[in-house]
Amino acid sequence: MKIVSVDVMLLPEDKPSFASQRPVLCRVNTDEGIYGLGEAGTTFFTGSDAVFAMIKEQAKFILGMDPMENEVIWNKIYSGAYWTKGNGPIVFAALSAIDTAIWDIKGKALGKPVYELLGGKFRDKLRCYASQLQFGFYEKTIPQCTYDDYVTVTKVAVEKGYDAVKTDPMIWGAKPGTFLLGEADTFGHFTNRTLDVIEERIAATREALGKDGDIIVECHSTTNLQSAIQVAKRLEKYDIMYMEEPLDSLTPSATKALADSINIPIATGERTYLRSGFLPYFLDRSPSMIQPDIGIVGGFTEMKKICDMAQTFDIGVQAHVCGTPISVAAGVQIEAAIPNFTIHETHVFSVQPAFTDLCTNNDFIPENGYITVPSKPGIGQDLSEMAIKRLITETVK
Ligand code: MG
Repeated sequence: MKIVSVDVMLLPEDKPSFASQRPVLCRVNTDEGIYGLGEAGTTFFTGSDAVFAMIKEQAKFILGMDPMENEVIWNKIYSGAYWTKGNGPIVFAALSAIDTAIWDIKGKALGKPVYELLGGKFRDKLRCYASQLQFGFYEKTIPQCTYDDYVTVTKVAVEKGYDAVKTDPMIWGAKPGTFLLGEADTFGHFTNRTLDVIEERIAATREALGKDGDIIVECHSTTNLQSAIQVAKRLEKYDIMYMEEPLDSLTPSATKALADSINIPIATGERTYLRSGFLPYFLDRSPSMIQPDIGIVGGFTEMKKICDMAQTFDIGVQAHVCGTPISVAAGVQIEAAIPNFTIHETHVFSVQPAFTDLCTNNDFIPENGYITVPSKPGIGQDLSEMAIKRLITETVK
Protein backbone atom coordinates (compact mmCIF):
# COMPACT_ATOMS: atom_id res chain seq x y z
CA MET A 1 0.00 0.00 0.00
CA LYS A 2 1.27 3.46 -0.90
CA ILE A 3 0.30 7.02 -0.01
CA VAL A 4 -0.83 8.75 -3.22
CA SER A 5 -2.15 12.11 -2.00
CA VAL A 6 -2.94 14.23 1.04
CA ASP A 7 -6.03 16.45 1.22
CA VAL A 8 -5.49 19.41 3.54
CA MET A 9 -8.79 20.84 4.78
CA LEU A 10 -9.78 24.01 6.61
CA LEU A 11 -13.23 24.69 8.02
CA PRO A 12 -14.12 28.37 7.66
CA GLU A 13 -15.77 29.96 10.65
CA ASP A 14 -19.54 30.44 10.47
CA LYS A 15 -19.35 33.66 12.38
CA PRO A 16 -16.62 35.16 14.54
CA SER A 17 -16.61 33.63 18.01
CA PHE A 18 -14.64 34.19 21.19
CA ALA A 19 -12.03 31.60 20.20
CA SER A 20 -12.18 32.18 16.40
CA GLN A 21 -11.82 28.44 15.85
CA ARG A 22 -11.14 27.20 12.32
CA PRO A 23 -10.36 23.46 12.43
CA VAL A 24 -7.66 22.07 10.11
CA LEU A 25 -7.85 18.42 9.10
CA CYS A 26 -5.95 16.17 6.76
CA ARG A 27 -7.02 13.11 4.80
CA VAL A 28 -4.22 10.81 3.68
CA ASN A 29 -5.22 8.75 0.63
CA THR A 30 -3.73 5.43 -0.51
CA ASP A 31 -3.57 3.50 -3.78
CA GLU A 32 -5.91 0.89 -2.24
CA GLY A 33 -8.71 3.37 -1.66
CA ILE A 34 -8.26 3.39 2.13
CA TYR A 35 -7.92 6.85 3.63
CA GLY A 36 -7.17 8.15 7.09
CA LEU A 37 -8.18 11.34 8.93
CA GLY A 38 -6.27 13.50 11.34
CA GLU A 39 -6.65 16.92 12.95
CA ALA A 40 -4.18 19.60 13.94
CA GLY A 41 -4.52 21.03 17.45
CA THR A 42 -3.42 24.63 16.89
CA THR A 43 -6.61 26.06 15.41
CA PHE A 44 -8.22 28.39 17.93
CA PHE A 45 -7.38 32.09 18.27
CA THR A 46 -4.40 31.67 15.90
CA GLY A 47 -2.58 28.94 14.01
CA SER A 48 -5.07 27.67 11.42
CA ASP A 49 -3.52 29.27 8.35
CA ALA A 50 0.00 28.40 9.47
CA VAL A 51 -0.72 24.74 10.18
CA PHE A 52 -2.75 24.40 6.96
CA ALA A 53 0.32 25.56 5.01
CA MET A 54 2.69 23.38 7.05
CA ILE A 55 0.71 20.18 6.43
CA LYS A 56 0.93 20.90 2.69
CA GLU A 57 4.71 21.24 2.96
CA GLN A 58 5.18 18.12 5.11
CA ALA A 59 2.82 16.05 2.92
CA LYS A 60 5.32 16.20 0.05
CA PHE A 61 7.74 14.10 2.13
CA ILE A 62 5.42 11.10 2.51
CA LEU A 63 4.04 10.60 -1.00
CA GLY A 64 4.81 7.06 -2.17
CA MET A 65 5.52 5.79 1.38
CA ASP A 66 3.89 2.74 2.99
CA PRO A 67 1.32 3.98 5.59
CA MET A 68 1.91 0.86 7.72
CA GLU A 69 5.34 2.27 8.61
CA ASN A 70 4.30 5.07 10.96
CA GLU A 71 7.68 5.32 12.69
CA VAL A 72 9.50 5.58 9.38
CA ILE A 73 7.08 8.26 8.14
CA TRP A 74 7.28 10.22 11.42
CA ASN A 75 11.06 10.25 11.30
CA LYS A 76 11.13 11.11 7.59
CA ILE A 77 9.31 14.35 8.40
CA TYR A 78 11.21 14.88 11.67
CA SER A 79 14.63 14.47 10.12
CA GLY A 80 14.01 15.43 6.51
CA ALA A 81 11.92 18.61 6.72
CA TYR A 82 14.77 20.53 8.45
CA TRP A 83 12.55 22.99 10.38
CA THR A 84 10.91 20.16 12.27
CA LYS A 85 13.88 19.33 14.52
CA GLY A 86 14.04 21.73 17.45
CA ASN A 87 11.03 23.67 16.29
CA GLY A 88 7.64 24.78 17.51
CA PRO A 89 4.00 23.78 17.84
CA ILE A 90 2.91 24.50 14.25
CA VAL A 91 5.31 21.97 12.73
CA PHE A 92 4.35 19.35 15.31
CA ALA A 93 0.64 20.05 14.95
CA ALA A 94 1.05 19.42 11.22
CA LEU A 95 3.01 16.23 11.86
CA SER A 96 0.35 15.21 14.41
CA ALA A 97 -2.47 15.53 11.86
CA ILE A 98 -0.55 13.42 9.35
CA ASP A 99 0.46 10.81 11.94
CA THR A 100 -3.11 10.48 13.25
CA ALA A 101 -4.33 9.88 9.68
CA ILE A 102 -1.58 7.25 9.16
CA TRP A 103 -2.78 5.29 12.23
CA ASP A 104 -6.38 5.59 11.01
CA ILE A 105 -5.28 3.96 7.75
CA LYS A 106 -3.38 1.22 9.60
CA GLY A 107 -6.44 0.40 11.67
CA LYS A 108 -8.76 0.34 8.67
CA ALA A 109 -6.33 -1.82 6.66
CA LEU A 110 -6.13 -4.36 9.50
CA GLY A 111 -9.81 -4.07 10.46
CA LYS A 112 -8.86 -3.06 14.02
CA PRO A 113 -9.43 0.01 16.18
CA VAL A 114 -6.26 1.99 16.87
CA TYR A 115 -6.33 1.09 20.58
CA GLU A 116 -5.78 -2.53 19.62
CA LEU A 117 -2.71 -1.61 17.57
CA LEU A 118 -1.42 0.35 20.59
CA GLY A 119 -1.55 -2.72 22.80
CA GLY A 120 -5.18 -3.24 23.67
CA LYS A 121 -8.10 -1.79 25.56
CA PHE A 122 -7.67 -1.31 29.31
CA ARG A 123 -11.30 -0.32 29.83
CA ASP A 124 -14.65 -0.36 28.06
CA LYS A 125 -15.79 3.04 29.32
CA LEU A 126 -14.08 6.36 29.91
CA ARG A 127 -15.19 8.63 32.74
CA CYS A 128 -15.75 12.12 31.30
CA TYR A 129 -15.90 15.62 32.70
CA ALA A 130 -17.94 18.48 31.30
CA SER A 131 -15.31 20.96 30.22
CA GLN A 132 -15.16 24.76 30.08
CA LEU A 133 -18.47 25.52 31.82
CA GLN A 134 -17.63 29.25 31.76
CA PHE A 135 -18.84 29.09 28.13
CA GLY A 136 -22.08 27.45 29.26
CA PHE A 137 -22.91 23.81 28.57
CA TYR A 138 -25.55 24.54 25.99
CA GLU A 139 -25.95 24.32 22.19
CA LYS A 140 -24.36 27.76 21.85
CA THR A 141 -21.64 29.51 23.78
CA ILE A 142 -23.08 31.73 26.53
CA PRO A 143 -20.61 33.46 28.88
CA GLN A 144 -21.26 32.53 32.51
CA CYS A 145 -20.85 35.48 34.85
CA THR A 146 -22.92 35.36 38.02
CA TYR A 147 -23.10 32.99 40.99
CA ASP A 148 -26.46 31.79 39.71
CA ASP A 149 -25.00 31.20 36.22
CA TYR A 150 -22.38 28.84 37.68
CA VAL A 151 -24.98 27.01 39.78
CA THR A 152 -27.30 26.58 36.78
CA VAL A 153 -24.68 25.49 34.25
CA THR A 154 -23.20 22.96 36.68
CA LYS A 155 -26.67 21.53 37.30
CA VAL A 156 -27.13 21.19 33.53
CA ALA A 157 -23.94 19.08 33.39
CA VAL A 158 -25.10 17.01 36.38
CA GLU A 159 -28.48 16.40 34.73
CA LYS A 160 -26.64 15.10 31.66
CA GLY A 161 -24.91 12.55 33.93
CA TYR A 162 -21.52 14.14 34.62
CA ASP A 163 -20.04 13.98 38.12
CA ALA A 164 -16.96 16.00 37.17
CA VAL A 165 -16.69 19.46 35.64
CA LYS A 166 -14.07 22.00 34.64
CA THR A 167 -14.47 25.73 34.66
CA ASP A 168 -12.29 28.81 34.24
CA PRO A 169 -13.53 31.39 36.77
CA MET A 170 -11.05 34.05 35.61
CA ILE A 171 -12.25 34.99 32.11
CA TRP A 172 -15.56 36.80 32.26
CA GLY A 173 -16.40 39.96 34.13
CA ALA A 174 -19.69 40.79 35.81
CA LYS A 175 -21.62 40.55 32.52
CA PRO A 176 -21.12 39.05 29.02
CA GLY A 177 -18.68 41.03 26.91
CA THR A 178 -16.58 42.10 29.90
CA PHE A 179 -13.46 40.53 31.35
CA LEU A 180 -12.64 39.87 34.98
CA LEU A 181 -9.07 41.03 35.31
CA GLY A 182 -8.71 44.78 35.74
CA GLU A 183 -5.73 47.10 35.57
CA ALA A 184 -4.93 46.45 39.22
CA ASP A 185 -4.56 42.71 38.55
CA THR A 186 -0.95 42.67 37.49
CA PHE A 187 1.72 40.06 36.96
CA GLY A 188 2.15 38.62 40.40
CA HIS A 189 -0.88 40.00 42.21
CA PHE A 190 -4.65 39.65 41.92
CA THR A 191 -6.78 42.05 43.93
CA ASN A 192 -9.07 40.77 46.67
CA ARG A 193 -12.05 41.90 44.57
CA THR A 194 -10.91 39.61 41.75
CA LEU A 195 -10.16 36.75 44.15
CA ASP A 196 -13.64 37.15 45.67
CA VAL A 197 -15.28 36.65 42.25
CA ILE A 198 -13.08 33.63 41.45
CA GLU A 199 -13.93 32.05 44.80
CA GLU A 200 -17.64 32.82 44.45
CA ARG A 201 -17.79 31.01 41.08
CA ILE A 202 -16.05 27.90 42.41
CA ALA A 203 -18.25 27.95 45.52
CA ALA A 204 -21.30 28.01 43.20
CA THR A 205 -19.88 25.11 41.18
CA ARG A 206 -19.28 23.06 44.34
CA GLU A 207 -22.75 23.86 45.67
CA ALA A 208 -24.40 22.60 42.46
CA LEU A 209 -22.13 19.58 42.05
CA GLY A 210 -22.42 18.34 45.64
CA LYS A 211 -19.56 17.12 47.81
CA ASP A 212 -18.85 13.94 45.83
CA GLY A 213 -18.27 15.49 42.40
CA ASP A 214 -14.88 16.53 41.06
CA ILE A 215 -13.89 20.06 40.02
CA ILE A 216 -11.00 21.02 37.78
CA VAL A 217 -10.12 24.72 37.91
CA GLU A 218 -8.88 25.90 34.52
CA CYS A 219 -6.37 28.75 34.57
CA HIS A 220 -5.39 28.99 30.87
CA SER A 221 -2.01 30.36 32.06
CA THR A 222 -3.74 33.55 33.21
CA THR A 223 -2.02 33.26 36.57
CA ASN A 224 1.70 33.36 37.29
CA LEU A 225 3.42 31.75 40.28
CA GLN A 226 2.37 34.38 42.82
CA SER A 227 -1.23 34.88 41.67
CA ALA A 228 -1.67 31.11 41.25
CA ILE A 229 -0.71 30.72 44.90
CA GLN A 230 -3.27 33.44 45.79
CA VAL A 231 -5.99 31.63 43.84
CA ALA A 232 -5.06 28.19 45.19
CA LYS A 233 -5.16 29.40 48.81
CA ARG A 234 -8.71 30.67 48.22
CA LEU A 235 -9.86 27.46 46.50
CA GLU A 236 -8.19 24.69 48.53
CA LYS A 237 -11.22 24.38 50.79
CA TYR A 238 -13.44 23.42 47.81
CA ASP A 239 -11.60 20.11 47.39
CA ILE A 240 -10.27 20.73 43.88
CA MET A 241 -9.29 17.73 41.74
CA TYR A 242 -6.73 19.64 39.67
CA MET A 243 -5.60 23.19 39.04
CA GLU A 244 -5.04 23.22 35.27
CA GLU A 245 -2.30 25.09 33.42
CA PRO A 246 -1.68 27.65 36.18
CA LEU A 247 1.57 28.80 34.53
CA ASP A 248 3.21 29.39 31.19
CA SER A 249 4.28 25.97 29.92
CA LEU A 250 7.81 27.24 29.29
CA THR A 251 8.39 27.76 33.03
CA PRO A 252 8.61 24.24 34.52
CA SER A 253 10.72 25.47 37.46
CA ALA A 254 7.88 27.82 38.48
CA THR A 255 5.43 24.90 38.22
CA LYS A 256 7.64 22.96 40.63
CA ALA A 257 7.68 25.93 43.02
CA LEU A 258 3.88 26.13 42.78
CA ALA A 259 3.45 22.42 43.42
CA ASP A 260 5.55 22.81 46.57
CA SER A 261 3.43 25.77 47.73
CA ILE A 262 -0.19 24.64 47.36
CA ASN A 263 -2.45 21.77 48.35
CA ILE A 264 -4.12 21.27 44.96
CA PRO A 265 -2.72 18.77 42.41
CA ILE A 266 -1.54 20.39 39.17
CA ALA A 267 -2.48 19.34 35.62
CA THR A 268 -0.71 20.79 32.60
CA GLY A 269 0.62 20.00 29.13
CA GLU A 270 -1.83 21.12 26.44
CA ARG A 271 0.78 23.49 24.94
CA THR A 272 3.71 21.10 25.41
CA TYR A 273 4.88 18.69 22.70
CA LEU A 274 7.31 15.82 22.25
CA ARG A 275 8.84 13.65 24.98
CA SER A 276 11.58 16.25 25.37
CA GLY A 277 8.97 18.92 26.15
CA PHE A 278 7.43 16.85 28.95
CA LEU A 279 10.72 15.60 30.38
CA PRO A 280 11.36 18.53 32.79
CA TYR A 281 7.84 18.06 34.20
CA PHE A 282 8.45 14.35 34.65
CA LEU A 283 11.82 14.79 36.32
CA ASP A 284 10.55 17.27 38.94
CA ARG A 285 7.17 15.52 39.19
CA SER A 286 5.34 18.88 39.50
CA PRO A 287 2.13 17.82 37.66
CA SER A 288 0.01 14.95 38.93
CA MET A 289 -1.69 14.65 35.54
CA ILE A 290 -0.48 15.66 32.08
CA GLN A 291 -2.82 16.79 29.30
CA PRO A 292 -1.02 16.13 26.00
CA ASP A 293 -3.00 16.99 22.86
CA ILE A 294 -2.69 14.29 20.21
CA GLY A 295 -3.00 17.07 17.60
CA ILE A 296 0.09 18.87 18.93
CA VAL A 297 2.47 16.39 20.58
CA GLY A 298 3.28 14.46 17.39
CA GLY A 299 0.25 12.21 16.84
CA PHE A 300 -0.24 8.67 18.17
CA THR A 301 3.40 7.75 17.49
CA GLU A 302 4.72 10.30 20.00
CA MET A 303 1.68 10.39 22.31
CA LYS A 304 2.02 6.72 23.29
CA LYS A 305 5.65 7.26 24.23
CA ILE A 306 4.79 10.36 26.30
CA CYS A 307 2.02 8.48 28.13
CA ASP A 308 4.35 5.56 28.87
CA MET A 309 7.00 7.94 30.19
CA ALA A 310 4.37 9.58 32.40
CA GLN A 311 3.53 6.18 33.88
CA THR A 312 7.19 5.70 34.78
CA PHE A 313 6.91 8.82 36.95
CA ASP A 314 3.50 7.86 38.43
CA ILE A 315 1.72 10.61 36.49
CA GLY A 316 -1.81 10.29 35.06
CA VAL A 317 -3.00 11.29 31.58
CA GLN A 318 -5.99 13.11 30.15
CA ALA A 319 -5.83 13.75 26.42
CA HIS A 320 -6.44 17.45 25.83
CA VAL A 321 -9.27 17.80 23.31
CA CYS A 322 -10.50 21.10 21.94
CA GLY A 323 -11.43 20.29 18.34
CA THR A 324 -13.87 18.45 16.11
CA PRO A 325 -15.10 14.87 16.71
CA ILE A 326 -12.06 13.72 14.69
CA SER A 327 -9.77 14.82 17.53
CA VAL A 328 -12.19 13.42 20.12
CA ALA A 329 -12.13 10.03 18.37
CA ALA A 330 -8.32 10.03 18.34
CA GLY A 331 -8.15 10.99 22.02
CA VAL A 332 -10.50 8.16 22.98
CA GLN A 333 -8.27 5.60 21.22
CA ILE A 334 -5.16 6.53 23.22
CA GLU A 335 -7.07 6.91 26.49
CA ALA A 336 -8.48 3.41 26.09
CA ALA A 337 -5.00 1.99 25.50
CA ILE A 338 -2.98 3.32 28.44
CA PRO A 339 -2.95 2.12 32.06
CA ASN A 340 -2.50 5.65 33.47
CA PHE A 341 -5.68 7.18 31.97
CA THR A 342 -7.31 9.50 34.51
CA ILE A 343 -10.37 11.17 32.97
CA HIS A 344 -11.65 12.21 29.51
CA GLU A 345 -12.33 15.83 28.58
CA THR A 346 -15.67 16.55 26.93
CA HIS A 347 -15.24 20.12 25.74
CA VAL A 348 -18.50 22.00 25.37
CA PHE A 349 -17.56 22.92 21.79
CA SER A 350 -17.20 19.22 20.89
CA VAL A 351 -20.84 18.46 21.80
CA GLN A 352 -22.32 21.52 20.07
CA PRO A 353 -24.05 20.93 16.68
CA ALA A 354 -21.50 23.19 14.95
CA PHE A 355 -18.98 20.38 15.52
CA THR A 356 -21.06 17.21 15.91
CA ASP A 357 -22.68 17.82 12.51
CA LEU A 358 -19.23 17.62 10.89
CA CYS A 359 -18.88 13.90 11.51
CA THR A 360 -20.90 10.74 10.94
CA ASN A 361 -20.39 9.06 14.28
CA ASN A 362 -21.81 10.39 17.54
CA ASP A 363 -20.59 7.44 19.65
CA PHE A 364 -18.15 9.87 21.22
CA ILE A 365 -20.80 11.97 22.95
CA PRO A 366 -20.93 10.73 26.56
CA GLU A 367 -24.02 9.09 28.00
CA ASN A 368 -24.46 9.45 31.75
CA GLY A 369 -20.98 10.88 31.96
CA TYR A 370 -19.20 8.00 30.21
CA ILE A 371 -18.06 7.23 26.67
CA THR A 372 -18.28 3.59 25.67
CA VAL A 373 -15.10 2.91 23.71
CA PRO A 374 -16.23 2.10 20.15
CA SER A 375 -14.83 -0.85 18.23
CA LYS A 376 -14.87 0.49 14.66
CA PRO A 377 -11.59 0.19 12.69
CA GLY A 378 -9.07 3.02 12.81
CA ILE A 379 -10.14 5.99 14.90
CA GLY A 380 -13.78 5.10 14.12
CA GLN A 381 -14.79 8.49 12.79
CA ASP A 382 -15.59 10.00 9.39
CA LEU A 383 -16.57 13.35 7.90
CA SER A 384 -20.21 14.10 7.06
CA GLU A 385 -21.28 15.16 3.58
CA MET A 386 -22.06 18.59 4.99
CA ALA A 387 -18.50 18.92 6.30
CA ILE A 388 -16.96 17.85 3.00
CA LYS A 389 -19.02 20.50 1.20
CA ARG A 390 -17.98 23.24 3.64
CA LEU A 391 -14.28 22.40 3.94
CA ILE A 392 -11.77 24.37 1.88
CA THR A 393 -9.60 21.59 0.48
CA GLU A 394 -6.21 21.61 -1.25
CA THR A 395 -4.62 18.36 -2.43
CA VAL A 396 -0.92 17.50 -2.42
CA LYS A 397 -0.09 14.71 -4.88
MG1 MG B 1 -6.80 23.84 29.34
